[in-house]
Amino acid sequence: MKAAVLYEPGQPLVVEDIELDPPKAGEVHVKIGAAGICRSDLHVMKGEAAHLLPAVLGHEGSGTVLDVGQGVTRVKPGDRVILSFVPYCGHCHFCLTNRANLCDQHMSTPGTLFDKTTRLHKGNRRIHHYGKVACFAQEAVVPETGCIPVASDFPFPQAALIGCCVTTGVGAAIYNAKITPGSTVAVIGCGGVGLNVIQGARLQNAGKIIAVDVNEGKLEFAMRFGATHTVNPTLRDPVAAIKELTGGLGADYTFEVFGSSQTVQTAYLAARKGGTIVVVGLAPTGDNAAIDPVMLVRQEKTLKGSYYGSARPVVDMPVMVQLYQAGKIDIDGLITRTYRLDQINQAYKDIDGGDVGRGVITQF
Ligand code: NAD
Ligand code: ZN
Repeated sequence: MKAAVLYEPGQPLVVEDIELDPPKAGEVHVKIGAAGICRSDLHVMKGEAAHLLPAVLGHEGSGTVLDVGQGVTRVKPGDRVILSFVPYCGHCHFCLTNRANLCDQHMSTPGTLFDKTTRLHKGNRRIHHYGKVACFAQEAVVPETGCIPVASDFPFPQAALIGCCVTTGVGAAIYNAKITPGSTVAVIGCGGVGLNVIQGARLQNAGKIIAVDVNEGKLEFAMRFGATHTVNPTLRDPVAAIKELTGGLGADYTFEVFGSSQTVQTAYLAARKGGTIVVVGLAPTGDNAAIDPVMLVRQEKTLKGSYYGSARPVVDMPVMVQLYQAGKIDIDGLITRTYRLDQINQAYKDIDGGDVGRGVITQF
């Protein structure tokens, strides 16, 4: 089957034929229907995040079940599924305490399936699976617990986006921050994930939603998803601008959704006394933010991370499906460009070049 393989950071993905072995017990063979262009894959491509290579990237995906391994009961051939990049083991401390997005078994087996082997290879050379999804390919073998069934007529691109940016962004607003009605919110970075934080804030009836981005096109686009104000940090100091828009206090909630020490610091400083800073972006390895601990104490700020929207994928992705079907969140409007798998390097140039919304691979 065809897949886009990353051999070395800094090099383009190679779209080529590689082999995919059949699913083992507890695994599912999926024909990919759509795969979203998320910045997390780009961090690996650029070497900003370490990963075992070579690897098939892609963690925002959906598809159709072709075949199931022994013991699989959750899905059957023909089912349409959203793929979760944090499948769960069901036995570790985090799975048992309602935080399956932090599953230990998953996090201790990076680049492989749960049994520490790969189904992907080229001849004798092992190829790793990013997030146990690896959907920049025609097909994938994934754990059963990484499959979330959806109706057979639910569109693949929208399903794929629920697989990452929608759940990550909306979840950060509703499950992690639990934004309260009327509160002030600043979202720093308005790409695929940030736009979903914005619509999550709107869903929670936030009072003011301040979109912060270096790209004017993204700021205009953010207004369609619920932003009430915009700030371009290339034109003015974002901390001062957010304070000015919040009566001098700072925002009740700030979200960092780009991935850098600098934007984490902006989010930290722009939160009011007693405010909450939620870090969603993944900064490059070693790019540590300097946080004044005295300010943390004396201003009683809360600094927290949010992984996968602090959602439990199997339980909460169907909630995202319902919110979309009820017209409470917009996913159609997020999808601004579609690509073929062999155009993937262009798709990543476009995300870095400031394209608005989300690109999605729809032809494999
Ligand atoms: P994206 O590239 O679509 O969006 C990033 C946005 O940040 C862009 O609009 C860009 O213009 C803007 N930006 C760049 N520099 C900025 C600055 N100095 N100030 C304000 N805005 C700035 O990326 P994405 O796919 O939305 O992902 C965003 C981040 O979230 C990435 O780091 C990604 O790896 C991470 N992520 C985290 C999770 C999680 O579970 N926490 C899940 C998915 C993605
Ligand atoms: Zn993602």
